[in-house]
Amino acid sequence: MQPIGLYIHVPFCVRKCSYCDFYSITDLSLTDVYTAAVVRNINAADCCFDTVYFGGGTPSLLSAKQIYEVLSAAKITANAEISMECNPNSVTADYLKEIHSAGVNRLSFGVQSFDKDELKMLGRLHSSEQAVNAIIAASKLGFDNISADLMLAVSGQTFKSLRCNLDIISKLPLTHISAYMLKVEEGTPLAADKELLSKIPDEDDTAEMYLETVQTLEGSGFEQYEISNFAKDGFECRHNLKYWRCEEYLGIGPAAHSFIDGKRFACPKNLSEFISSDVQKTVTLDNGGSAEEKAMLSLRLTKEGLSLDDYPQAEKPAEILIKNGLLKKEKGALKLTPEGCLVSNEIICRLV
Ligand code: SF4
Repeated sequence: MQPIGLYIHVPFCVRKCSYCDFYSITDLSLTDVYTAAVVRNINAADCCFDTVYFGGGTPSLLSAKQIYEVLSAAKITANAEISMECNPNSVTADYLKEIHSAGVNRLSFGVQSFDKDELKMLGRLHSSEQAVNAIIAASKLGFDNISADLMLAVSGQTFKSLRCNLDIISKLPLTHISAYMLKVEEGTPLAADKELLSKIPDEDDTAEMYLETVQTLEGSGFEQYEISNFAKDGFECRHNLKYWRCEEYLGIGPAAHSFIDGKRFACPKNLSEFISSDVQKTVTLDNGGSAEEKAMLSLRLTKEGLSLDDYPQAEKPAEILIKNGLLKKEKGALKLTPEGCLVSNEIICRLV
């Protein structure tokens, strides 16, 4: 049996952050019944997994015992990557030790910023010190694969605060950094807050902030391998690579998506339905894995790029983009440059 990826959506948060539109609820009394439903779904799936990713929501709101129950139910290969997203304020040293013993071998901390005002604006519950301490503690306790998320161009961010964030993050014992530009999602408190919206850096500053981030992280040994992702050598996120390489994965939990046998499907954003069903009900989205979709996703991978053997029709329209410094051609593949990453959607449209 060919191993695939397993994504588990943990739909619980202590409080909703101002910018977030991920599916989660703040009623934490349902974590036991939720865990039992995840285990039922894993048992019902005839699959073996070489990556597991607990995403959310806030997976670190599950107890170590609940994480262990989920991992014990799954058939997991010996060398599997088992990642878990953590909020810096919801982990203690004991908790980190316990989830490490349960099998988690990669942590992804939702840091977003080390600046007090930026954290407040984002509605995050942790402080800069908590984030630094959590990462250092995890490293000391034996986690040798730790990622942190950083948010760029948030309301009120300046080049000074960005540089300070980059300086702190690049000195921490991390193997991976995800650096996303803030996206204002419809229906979030941020989208309705005119004052905060007016403080978001303009397009030119945002572009400069992104380019400076790429340069600084690369200079600190974090090689860019995807538009928003950077890793030390050999520490690219194996689970997320499956999404961009159009490989199969099973998603369990409300709002989780799956890609199996060429079909994409999703579990509805409804926790009550998820916990009351024997096996999660899913909605089929569309067929996946076409040559066009593979080409679009592979272009996001700045290190691998789009192979011209797989998609020769991209060569002609790429010429002008290469000339303008937005793409480069290396070893028979087209790869976005950092400047190209800023207009990736337009480039992908032109090539595919
Ligand atoms: S950003 Fe993370 S912690 Fe904040 S509401 Fe969204 S899922 Fe929860």
